Amino acid sequence: MRIAKNSVVSFHYTLNDGEGKLLDTSAGRDAFAYIHGGGMIVPGLEEEMEGKGKGDSLQVQVAPEKGYGVVDPQLVQRVPLDRFGDQQVEEGMQFQTPDHRVWSVMEVKDGEVFLNGNHPLAGVTLHFSVEITDVREATADELSHGHVHGPGGHHH
Ligand code: ZN
Repeated sequence: MRIAKNSVVSFHYTLNDGEGKLLDTSAGRDAFAYIHGGGMIVPGLEEEMEGKGKGDSLQVQVAPEKGYGVVDPQLVQRVPLDRFGDQQVEEGMQFQTPDHRVWSVMEVKDGEVFLNGNHPLAGVTLHFSVEITDVREATADELSHGHVHGPGGHHH
């Protein structure tokens, strides 16, 4: 069958940036599994998966706009260190604000904390190498839970 809305798709992938640096890979793990059409993978990759089938290999280049977004300068901020009260703050730490945004501490210097709330892959053109290992219909349970059950998905 061909990939369409509510297909469960399993695939292996390698993700590189434009310079060929490896960002992520499913090698050595279960194939990644998702429900097609639900926005569970980046939009630029999901569009290219449409209509493909088991055994297909594809090379997909995804611009930041259809990947993890462009860098938002508003999300690069300096905050006075005393705003954190007694909490220990160091470079490399991450924390989440009530709006679910994850912030990374880039640097702590001169009583200020430099924060970046952009996704680590914001602004990056993504180069995916994909091999589709399985395509099937989602079960009613999977659709109601909003995730895949079994290999590459949830076990419960
Ligand atoms: Zn479930």
